[in-house]
Amino acid sequence: MQGNMMDVQLTIPTILERVRTQYAGREVVSLLVAGRDAQGQPVAHKHRTTYGEVADRALRLAAALQGLGLNPGDRVATLCVNSFRHLEAYLGVPSAGLVLHTVNIRLHPEQVAWILNHAEDRVLIIENVFAAMIPAIRAACPLIERIFVMGPLPQAIPGADDYDTLVMGHEPLSHYPDLNENAPAAMCYTSGTTGNPKGVVYTHRSTVLHSLASAPKDALGVGEADTVLAIVPMFHVNAWGLPYTCAMYGAKQVFAGVFSDGPSLARLLEEEGVTITAGVPTIWMGLLAELDRAKAAQAPYDLSRLQTVISGGSASPESMIRAFQDRHGLRMLQAWGMTETHPLGTASAVPVGVDPVSDEGYALRAKQGRTVPLIEIGLLGDDGQRLPHDGQTLGRLIIRGPWVASSYVKGEGQANFMTLDDGKLWFDTGDIVTIDERGFMHIQDRAKDLIKSGGEWISSVELENAIMAHPAVAQCAVIAMDDPKWDERPLAVVVPRPGQSVTHEELIEFISPKFARWWLPDATVMTDSLPIGATGKFLKRELREQYRGHKAN
Ligand code: ADP
Repeated sequence: MQGNMMDVQLTIPTILERVRTQYAGREVVSLLVAGRDAQGQPVAHKHRTTYGEVADRALRLAAALQGLGLNPGDRVATLCVNSFRHLEAYLGVPSAGLVLHTVNIRLHPEQVAWILNHAEDRVLIIENVFAAMIPAIRAACPLIERIFVMGPLPQAIPGADDYDTLVMGHEPLSHYPDLNENAPAAMCYTSGTTGNPKGVVYTHRSTVLHSLASAPKDALGVGEADTVLAIVPMFHVNAWGLPYTCAMYGAKQVFAGVFSDGPSLARLLEEEGVTITAGVPTIWMGLLAELDRAKAAQAPYDLSRLQTVISGGSASPESMIRAFQDRHGLRMLQAWGMTETHPLGTASAVPVGVDPVSDEGYALRAKQGRTVPLIEIGLLGDDGQRLPHDGQTLGRLIIRGPWVASSYVKGEGQANFMTLDDGKLWFDTGDIVTIDERGFMHIQDRAKDLIKSGGEWISSVELENAIMAHPAVAQCAVIAMDDPKWDERPLAVVVPRPGQSVTHEELIEFISPKFARWWLPDATVMTDSLPIGATGKFLKRELREQYRGHKAN
């Protein structure tokens, strides 16, 4: 017997059509750059549009790109911030049968050019605020035939055209190309935290399934009634898929553009009645400082509509989750993922019967959580054997699912993909984790950041989280320093809060109840700031180079 359901292809035009027909009146709000103040800082202008207009312009963009003579599967790169125009590209480029290649604007220009060339991009759409890069890109990237600039420019740039003119110069696409659900839709490079960037190509199918699975209550909890501010950039893992997820379910979208400082975000959250926001812990630390400041000044922001602050990209210290809840009544939800997993793999909603604001609840929320449907995870030992999910045993996290990469562009990094003795293909994440009996995954480190002391592993993440709970500490990264006896020993690099100081001894006393003695850092160095990479993570590679020869205090 055969099943008799329709074989409907899961493609991005199905999302665009929902937006166009069902949610046309729903708002899309963007902070754009209106100009510069006397200090040269960008001044915000709030732009309001609707999904109906976004869909119309997305279809015009699709028609315009087809008119340029691009072939199915050709890459259209964006070097853009979060805005309604970038959303048009998200919807319009794949709907034309082309591949949206979102490029990380915070990378070094040479790395940007390397990525554009590696992906063999034919068209580049670039935000006006980055227009100064155009001549260098032109020189370094011969495969790029056309460049279009999003947003107004004070003067024309040779070799670049205006994006709005391109879009409005065409009628909307009248019919979608016949798209296979496994056709490429978008691509993204890993941020290269642990090596050369590698390209990951998302399909229409993986995007649709990821959107379906990340919206439900126990995942990110996105529905039509929501207003979502994704601070996570649209150039990084599709802003955790949120532009597509929100479009699929009709949630209002708010984009902060270049404005990611605490005060701008707090104002935007309040003014737009945001219900869900998403970003990396470094962003949340900035927001927390602003919320604390405003509260102390007895002029707190009204964030009563904000239901969930989603935090991912690196570990969220329990102390930060508690601070949001205790001081501002805000629920923080930790989620985990990677470029290779589209990205959502796990989310840390507490199980039934556990009070989210009990000690047990907080401990679980500080973990990375349980898988979303259709994602499987496992633990692998050094010699390739499966390890028990007992909450104690450390191993490499492996993952599989319909929105997990099965290879990198041009077949690079093949060693990360493996068929195990269950006959299935798995991706080795390089994260060192425990998984408990209930399925809660807890990241201890990235394999390259673990500290190997006397043959035993020490988790830098655990130490950082504990140190960041100290009231005088703003930020902390723990790295390995060379040690003649133990090979490596932990070194804490600490940024104190403004006007505060703390000693190594005080920090050790503060964290020692939580750790075995041999885990405690041998030394602490104070610094004004930590190097932060293009996706908001501490650059431990740089720190390790800087403090390679450091000796115990
Ligand atoms: P890159 O691999 O270049 O850093 P990604 O954004 O793909 O770029 O990073 C994925 C990695 O980020 C994961 O493998 C994991 O180490 C880390 N990460 C993501 N979310 C979390 C989280 N909630 N807690 C701890 N680490 C996280």
